[in-house]
Amino acid sequence: MTFQTRISGYADPALHAEGLYIGGKWQKGSGIAVTDPSTGNRLTEVADASVEDAIRAVAAAETAAAGWRDTPARQRSEILRRWFQLMTQHAEDLATLIALENGKALSDARGEVTYAAEFFRWYAEEATRIPGEYRHTPSGSHHILVDHEPIGIAVLITPWNFPAAMATRKIGPALAAGCTVILKPASETPLTAYAMARLGEEAGVPAGVVNVLTTSRPAEVTNAMLADPRVRKLSFTGSTGVGRTLLAEAAKSVVSCSMELGGNAPFVVFDDADLEAAIDGAMVAKMRNAGEACTAANRFYVQSGIHDAFVACLTARMAALKIGPGYEPSTQCGPMITQNAVRKIDKLVSDAVAGGARATTGGKPLSENGYFYPPTVLENVPVDAAIAREEIFGPVAPIYKFDSEEEVIRLANDTEYGLAAYIYSGDLKRAMKVGKRLEAGMLGINRGLMSDPAAPFGGVKQSGLGREGGVTGILEFMEAKYYAVDY
Ligand code: NAP
Repeated sequence: MTFQTRISGYADPALHAEGLYIGGKWQKGSGIAVTDPSTGNRLTEVADASVEDAIRAVAAAETAAAGWRDTPARQRSEILRRWFQLMTQHAEDLATLIALENGKALSDARGEVTYAAEFFRWYAEEATRIPGEYRHTPSGSHHILVDHEPIGIAVLITPWNFPAAMATRKIGPALAAGCTVILKPASETPLTAYAMARLGEEAGVPAGVVNVLTTSRPAEVTNAMLADPRVRKLSFTGSTGVGRTLLAEAAKSVVSCSMELGGNAPFVVFDDADLEAAIDGAMVAKMRNAGEACTAANRFYVQSGIHDAFVACLTARMAALKIGPGYEPSTQCGPMITQNAVRKIDKLVSDAVAGGARATTGGKPLSENGYFYPPTVLENVPVDAAIAREEIFGPVAPIYKFDSEEEVIRLANDTEYGLAAYIYSGDLKRAMKVGKRLEAGMLGINRGLMSDPAAPFGGVKQSGLGREGGVTGILEFMEAKYYAVDY
């Protein structure tokens, strides 16, 4: 079966080239090329929003705001639930579309669609359980009543590495809270966002509640929206660098910010770990999305007693992975998102090798068409190499040997990031004790995958502010209102 014959329904890129989605209307346009990263070929073009389009989207969100805020929670919940069902029904099309524009393997894309849809189901449930509070003042002077109200219009900015899940992780809680939103997906992967907006329309999301716009001028367009006094929330997922810029911009109008930023996850393996389980976990933590994940294991710290066996086993598993276009069903490692991403990985690996590291598999970009970098394992990596400080965002596993608990805690925390960390040990007490001292918002204990819509996702240090998912995720889109009551 050829690539062309497999593409139909929501998976057809041409369907989503319709244009901006503002106030429930599709507005035709062009200007942003969407590329298949496995060939470099153009898939289609999407509309390029101007500042005026963005302000129209804010106006549409404002028009829809009162109606949506006053819609009973049960009704908002049922719409989200229908959206979840539609995503599930069209899961295979959505997965194909993700594999096409992002390049990730179909198995990863299917996993993403399931994960993404779950945010709608979870927040359909949470919409009806928004908490309040009632207290007596310690002095006995009055009663304290705390309500939670929707914060207002929210601008949602998402990256290309999880085109579906990063959007639903924001839209789900925002809509459940009663907010209206403007979603700006990444320019590399806009098709999935438009496809999901169509399903939202079908699910009954009223016009203007969700608006989607793509732009080649993200700074100009976002800054204009943040300067508009009707916008009260910015929820951003992306790099720490852009996050810092946006925090400064949002400060000008004191817009509330939730920030899900970069990571540099340590993956710690103690001598007493179950080797097979640690390798399975390492493959998930490193190779989900071919390493293009904020939670990706970026530094493997392996204790001396298990080090050589770990290197040998990981090398064998990485070398056996099948590389190819994401949409080919047998592919296990797809292309990187752009040629620039390949160049960055190559530079980090070359620098580590120049510093004394050795590639036990991979280690050089592939020369075929498309943006491919092979699964790579590096041993003997200097702890001060650039690859230990920067996000690799690719299929490269640098391994560092350590001896003591104190040493590995110091090395693991020696980074500006603090998103995720992984520990493998046969001694749960030790794993928890070390975990407590690691500076990270999320810990995988004898587990290579931690993401779950029911759990709070987020980081400490320069990995972000706030949490998405879980029971608290909805509060990122709400303001507490306190009533001092005498009676
Ligand atoms: P990015 O370059 O920071 O871009 C993220 C989004 O911000 C895109 O939509 C981008 O639009 C937009 N953007 C870029 N510059 C902007 C500006 N000045 N003003 C407003 N918007 C701007 O990140 P990325 O390369 O897409 O994604 C990879 C990064 O995301 C990694 O650092 C990864 O760790 C992080 N990430 C974090 C999480 C988490 O939950 N913590 C999850 C996933 C990814 P354009 O596409 O048009 O440039």
